[in-house]
Amino acid sequence: MKKLGFGLMRLPLVDPNHVERVDVELVKKMADRFLERGYTYFDTAYPYHEGRSETAFREAVVKRYPRDRYILADKMPTRSLKTEEDFDLIFDEQLKRCGVDYFNNYLLHNLNRERYENVQRLDGFDYIARKKAEGRVLHTGFSFHDDSALLEQILTDHPEVDFVQLQINYIDWDSPTIEAGKCYDVCCRYGKPVIVMEPVKGGSLARVPEEALELMKEYAPDASPASWAIRYAASLDNVTVVLSGMSDLEQLEDNTAFMQDFKPLNPDERKILHQVREIINSTRAIPCTACRYCSPGCPMNIAIPEYFRLYNTLQQFDPEREWNNVQTYFNTLIHTHGKPSDCIRCGQCEAVCPQHLPIIEDLVKVSDIFE
Ligand code: SF4
Ligand code: SF4
Repeated sequence: MKKLGFGLMRLPLVDPNHVERVDVELVKKMADRFLERGYTYFDTAYPYHEGRSETAFREAVVKRYPRDRYILADKMPTRSLKTEEDFDLIFDEQLKRCGVDYFNNYLLHNLNRERYENVQRLDGFDYIARKKAEGRVLHTGFSFHDDSALLEQILTDHPEVDFVQLQINYIDWDSPTIEAGKCYDVCCRYGKPVIVMEPVKGGSLARVPEEALELMKEYAPDASPASWAIRYAASLDNVTVVLSGMSDLEQLEDNTAFMQDFKPLNPDERKILHQVREIINSTRAIPCTACRYCSPGCPMNIAIPEYFRLYNTLQQFDPEREWNNVQTYFNTLIHTHGKPSDCIRCGQCEAVCPQHLPIIEDLVKVSDIFE
């Protein structure tokens, strides 16, 4: 299977103000081109485009191609589930919306601490295993947005899953909040193949600072910044598919062209991406180095570097694109840590910060935006 998958969460719209008004005719053209070039993997989910991602896929692909021409992944929402009966209601609706009688890959969507507790309470992993036994699902997995310790816990509790979907890109690889690299290593240790989501960080890495763009163009004048980001994720050995949420034909042409005869990044390209990462990180609004000297002594257990990282992400990249993702991580953090506004201004953190950051003042900025 080719390593590029079509993420169906940012489909073209006929009206940009209505996320549910998907331009199905354009999706048909994009799907045709995607399949024609030998790609097969599509990834949708119950909430994408308020349910219209699944139906657009039915119209564009299911009704027009035989079932063995494509691989379809869908996901069970995990936050709003109240009772065990909800699983069947949603799963049956998904089959109907997509117009299929089985899913190749089926995931528990967006697991973090809070959602994992909910899924455990309702035996969600047993449910997807049952669907697999019934032949309604060929492979089971989950998509994940939390730290590597929780990922390890889940894979210990549920060794039966076939794969994990992770957010991996060259900016989040060393991120203390997202821990993409650490999460990838956990999957390797547990023998679970990885599907990558957000390789272009919600589209943010498609537009890099001018200085970084020059470095990329000097080495490969025709390669788009997005191509560097997708190839970075696809170069990881244990990655089977990298999803790209393509929104128009131009993006689709670009992605399918550079992934056609995929070549992993060479040492020179890795060096350039390292420099690009440094340039992007140097534009941080709060120049926190994530050394973590401050947090162990905080009486309110405030996740200081993690909050700063999320704040910086919103300042460095397109906030509209980043908001949902960043908010998910913020909500996860406040589940186990003090909120920015819980700061009692004791000053412990500022006394130990080697960067001499005005942490108390900066936490107010974070609180103003997130809380
Ligand atoms: S000043 Fe606020 S953030 Fe810093 S250690 Fe004290 S309570 Fe924690
Ligand atoms: S001590 Fe300063 S630089 Fe280090 S993590 Fe805390 S705020 Fe960031």
